[in-house]
This record gives sequence, C-alpha cells and structure tokens, in this order.
Amino acid sequence: VLTDSDQFYFNWYAHIDVHEEMIKDRVRTDAYKNAIMRHKDFIRDKVVLDVGCGTGILAIFCAQAGARRVYAVEASNIALQTIRVVEANNLLNIITVLHGRVEDVEIGEKVDVIISEWMGYMLLCESMLGSVITARDRWLKPGGLVLPSKATLYMAPFTHAKRYRESIDFWRSVYGINMSAMVPLAKQCAFVGPSVETITSENVLAWPQVVKCVNCSSVTIPELESITTRFKFNSLVKAPLHGFAFWFDVEFTRLSPEPISFQLSTSLVDDHPVGSQRQDLRDPTLLLSTAPEALPTHWQQTLIYFYEPIELEQDQLIEGKVTLSQSQENHRNLNIELVYATGGQSYVKVSVM
Ligand code: SAH
Repeated sequence: VLTDSDQFYFNWYAHIDVHEEMIKDRVRTDAYKNAIMRHKDFIRDKVVLDVGCGTGILAIFCAQAGARRVYAVEASNIALQTIRVVEANNLLNIITVLHGRVEDVEIGEKVDVIISEWMGYMLLCESMLGSVITARDRWLKPGGLVLPSKATLYMAPFTHAKRYRESIDFWRSVYGINMSAMVPLAKQCAFVGPSVETITSENVLAWPQVVKCVNCSSVTIPELESITTRFKFNSLVKAPLHGFAFWFDVEFTRLSPEPISFQLSTSLVDDHPVGSQRQDLRDPTLLLSTAPEALPTHWQQTLIYFYEPIELEQDQLIEGKVTLSQSQENHRNLNIELVYATGGQSYVKVSVM
C-alpha cells in the first residue's frame, strides 16, 4: 500500500548514515533528551508513543525517564536493528518496537505522551508532521502531552556575497581565461533550488518574520497542505540582497498552563516584529532553535537564492508573500512560491524542496 514516494522515503531511513547524522547532531539530540528529562514528572509511569523512533534513542530516553510503557513505531527497516538495541539494553519489558507505519499499526491502548522528531528542512519538508497528527488524533488521551509542543518557521532576507563570489564570480576569470559564458549556467545550477547552508546573524538583513506557527496539540492536516503568509521587511543595512533564508525552532513545553517565561516574552515584544530578540527570553533549555544565531544543527538554514542580487539601501522595504504547499507529485516535497517587490520592481521565484 506504500506509494512510490513513501517507499523511497522509508528506504532512505533504513540507511545508517541518516541516523548517524541525526544522533551526532548534539544540539538536536541533547534538546530532546533534556526536554524528556525536564518532563520526568509527567512521563513517570505513563504510556508514551514515539512516532518514527529510528534507532530508538528517544524511546530509550523516555524509558529512562520512568515511562511505564513506550510504543516505538518505525516504518523503515532500521526497526530490525532497533529491536536488538532495546533488547541489549534490557528494555523489552518497557519498549515495544512496532515495525510499520504509525498510520497502520495497532497499539491497543491510549497514550499519555507523543514524542517525535518529525522536522524536515524548512520545518515542513518530508511532511512527517501529518503522521504525528494522525497518531495524536487516534491514540492521545485528552490532556496528553505532545513533544515538541510548538513549532515556528521563520524567514528573513539575507546577503551572502562570499557564496556568490565562490559559485558565480569565480567563472569570470579562470586561470586567466575569461569563462563568463559559464555565468548564466552557474546561476541556474546554483540557485534553481533551495540550498541547505549555514549562515550567521551577519548575513541576515532584517528582523525575521514568522511564516507559520504550529501548535502540535491542535494543528490539523488540511492546515498544512498550503500555507500563505505576507511579509514586509525593512533592510537594516545597505547590502546586496541574495535571497530569503528560512529556519525554525521547536518548543518543548506544556502549552497550558502557559509557562511564565512565555507570557513574559510575548508581552515584552508585542510592539516588535517577532524575531530573535524574543527567543532570548524563552527558556533556552526547552527550545531547539535552528536560527542563524543559534548553535549549528544538521538542518542548518534553508536559503532560496535569487538569480540576480538586488542592491538594497538601508531601510528599503521588501514586501510580498510566500506560499508553501505540498507537491502533488510527491507529498514529501514542498513547493515554495515567493512573490516579492522592492524598489519599484516585482519578482517571482518558484522552487521545490
Ligand atoms: N526518533 C529518531 C529518528 C527521527 S527521524 C531520532 O530522533 O533519532 C524520523 C523517523 O521517522 C525515520 O526513521 C522515519 O523512517 C520514521 N517515520 C517517518 N514517518 C513515519 C510513519 N508514518 N510511520 C512510522 N515511522 C515513520
């Protein structure tokens, strides 16, 4: 019953490299471990569902936090190893590994906690959040906890002269030979699709804006099929604008009652664009951020370059809208449509990730 795209997707997760990369991403894995341990009082003696358990690492953290039972569901064949890992750690009495799609398996009881590491590039690539929602609606008890509890996708205009020099201007003179004829092809190849790269705050030209904020306890699948957000940026400096950068963060908090730190942060920044200044006020130990100013993760940032840079003046306005929609051909892919205007000119950039 698996579609070709799901077949491909789950085969990919049967490889060790992808699990190695995720586990070696200490920012990611420590954030989950820390969040699980910080929710020990809630998890103790409870039933947990780990959606897409991979190697079983989060399921094992939950067992260590005192869960009574953990259902660890994994569709890819990595699950064959995961069962052995659980056995070798003497946790077969607590962790039940189920090899199948979370949409297809039977659990036989309701759960108190759902944990999942579902975030793809640009947050929504892979569309795995839909599986978490399906599991939540089917198995989570009322008042149960979903970790992460909240996810936010941000965007900001960026400048990246160094990358432009290395990939494009490089061709203007190669060993003293004029290879400028390569420039259009170089631009096409380098900038046709989104690229996953690490930038720093210095590349960011304006206060970031929220593209989408998801409450994991209430978000629905239709809500994620197509997302359109308008944006308005004021360039903080004079610089060439190379494109738009995207990144996300996720929070691990019980959303009600609201933690004090969260209430504080919203009230303090009400008059400001939602940006990195707000993050500093949130509990950093319950936040996994992939922002340019945060510690680097394997997600890095996702950059959508323009074919031609736009020379921005300080305070210049860039406005437009972005639409993220699941691709019809492969629902694991994301179509990204950017329509924007600045300095009296308008532009469109469409790409697929
Ligand atoms: N929890 C692990 C792996 C996260 S990667 C860790 O934190 O290291 C996401 C995993 O979810 C992949 O192994 C993928 O195969 C699995 N997955 C994605 N969608 C799924 C679904 N619908 N049912 C079961 N497993 C799924």
